[in-house]
Amino acid sequence: MHRLSRFVVSVVSVAALAAQSDSVAPKQEPAQKGTAKARAHRKPRPKKKVSAKTEPEIKPIPGFDITALDTDTSPCVDFYQFACGSWLKKNPIPSDRSRWGRFDLLEERNLAILRDILEKAAIKDPKRSAVEQKIGDYYASCMDEGAIEKQGTAPIKAQLERIAALSDKNALADEVARLHRVGANVLFSFGSGQDFKNSNEVIAQADQGGFGLPDRDYYLKQDEDSIQTRKQYVDHVQKMFELLGDSTDRAAAKAQTVMDIESDLAKRSLDLVSRRDPAKIYHKMRREELAASLNPSFEWTKYLAEVAVPWIENLNVSEPEFFKGIDSLINTTSLENWKTYLTWHLVHSQAPFLPAKFVNENFNFYGKTLTGAQELRPRWKRCVSYVDGDLGEALGQKYVERTFGVEGKERTLAMVGALERALGKDIRQLDWMTPATKAKALEKLRSITNKIGYPDKWRDYSMLIIVRGDAIGNSQRGTQFEFHRQLAKIGQPVDRTEWQMTPPTVNAYYESQLNNINFPAGILQPPFFDKSLDDAVNFGAIGAVIGHELTHGFDDEGRKFDTKGNLRDWWTAKDAAEFEKRADCLANEYSQFTVAENVKLNGKLTLGENTADNGGLRIAYMALLDEIAGKSLPKIDEFTPEQRFFIGYSQSWCENATEEAARLHALTNPHSEPKYRVNGVVQNMPEFQKAFSCSLGQPMVRRSPCRVW
Ligand SMILES: [Zn+2]
Repeated sequence: MHRLSRFVVSVVSVAALAAQSDSVAPKQEPAQKGTAKARAHRKPRPKKKVSAKTEPEIKPIPGFDITALDTDTSPCVDFYQFACGSWLKKNPIPSDRSRWGRFDLLEERNLAILRDILEKAAIKDPKRSAVEQKIGDYYASCMDEGAIEKQGTAPIKAQLERIAALSDKNALADEVARLHRVGANVLFSFGSGQDFKNSNEVIAQADQGGFGLPDRDYYLKQDEDSIQTRKQYVDHVQKMFELLGDSTDRAAAKAQTVMDIESDLAKRSLDLVSRRDPAKIYHKMRREELAASLNPSFEWTKYLAEVAVPWIENLNVSEPEFFKGIDSLINTTSLENWKTYLTWHLVHSQAPFLPAKFVNENFNFYGKTLTGAQELRPRWKRCVSYVDGDLGEALGQKYVERTFGVEGKERTLAMVGALERALGKDIRQLDWMTPATKAKALEKLRSITNKIGYPDKWRDYSMLIIVRGDAIGNSQRGTQFEFHRQLAKIGQPVDRTEWQMTPPTVNAYYESQLNNINFPAGILQPPFFDKSLDDAVNFGAIGAVIGHELTHGFDDEGRKFDTKGNLRDWWTAKDAAEFEKRADCLANEYSQFTVAENVKLNGKLTLGENTADNGGLRIAYMALLDEIAGKSLPKIDEFTPEQRFFIGYSQSWCENATEEAARLHALTNPHSEPKYRVNGVVQNMPEFQKAFSCSLGQPMVRRSPCRVW
């Protein structure tokens, strides 16, 4: 969360293991896969169809599943339904989830492996390595609910008292800094990032923040659902204050104060679509400009000293207007009200490690109301995720030893090579791009670095102290370790070998500012990559993911960065205009798709991901054709290789979601819903229509197909 304004685009949102429905607290980043908006008046999902208590088995998920098909539906009418229909019917959402897909089966399998690793590491044994001690004791402390109940709120007592004792507004800066260090998202966000215009340098960054709801739009929208969600949020904040010991009336008044302050912050914040434009969030300035002109009411000198970077001279203030807004908010809000706001965020951020009544109330709002999940996930799954969050590369070492061989890396690299050749061919063949821009695009493609599986050098956690029996302390020290690790990069050269996701993560990403693609070991398994299956299926599944990440270098956001990752325009005006025209076609196409009652996809928010999905599947298909050229391949399960390619792609996305989750996804997630990641793409592909003999007039054949890459 301290990595700000960084252009990292993934194949699904945020780290998969963090994708939980019990909280959007800082331990699990906000607005992720699986968080959703409330619809209190919608009838609740029937409870307990599937037990959340079923323990997953550690077995692979088939990469191609003939039993998932719905052969009563024509592939030309609804391809997603054809490829996934039976699976969707047979796999209702478990009560502790808001989404359930074939993707999640792989996550569950990873969780079971990680649990096994952690339970072994948790056994007190003098022969444990330093890494085993840290991950084992962190996990054991998190699992020890008895001790956590007994301690009550004692572990945060000193922090609560410190906030209560603040005697004037000049002390706000110190307190905000102390809260940032332990993961409370107050007032704004602060961290470090690569300078958009100088890819060699890491600079400090200050950005909007300070909300308890997933995004600023939650505070501003005036439709019935949004009004209802805000009411439920205020109720939740009130209950948390009651749990801290306030009377009902006093807690209600405090909750309203929190809502007022956060609404004010929201009004001064940028919306998600605007934030996709790097130019709108790049305002590098001298520190005095922020401290003296924009935000003089906040003691920036004190803040920077408290977060241990007193010496910085420049920083990117991503949204100057936001900080101007904070300035007047500080002046117009009483110290008493600031204390209320800070207290709320402290207890909110620590809720996952407090006694059950806090955990349950946190889940009631962030899980049930926002995402539609019915039951809290079993504690062990939550604790595995927290270890992954705070000690990801320590746990990841053990995971890699267990799951990822040399062969996995070699086969993936070979496939990446095939995809890169296909994208090169695609660029050379484009009829809308001039040779000058093509040459630059090809140069950028050649410069992409491929990172596969896990880091070459593991992160050193030796400075992070993990104490058995101190669950909150471990979590806070973990957050603090990461916060300072990010700030320690300021002024240093950019580390191009670092990973943004942990090895067990079922996800992949492209980084515009480093021009690299990254595939954690977690995704290089069935159903994405299945070494027992034919190339056609693997190119459709993991091949399309690789193509997706490569294409991100050339989507609406990625195209604005050059070979080295600098924000620099390398397009001729004519080519840029041609690009925009084609991108608009995609934005319009996806804006027509309905996600839930009265909710359509936001074609502009999802433009980058849709561009990557469309380009990715096309170049994966080109790569497959090169791979099988000249070979006469038999049908398997009665499907041609071409058909298996498209089914393999579609089946990696089979997923059920609650209506709440679908709504939140549409409002905050840059990815389209799985159904449209499939149907939205194949509609644009004559290659698909040929493979399944579809004809014009059928739903999977778009009259004027969109194509960027
Ligand atoms: Zn993506």
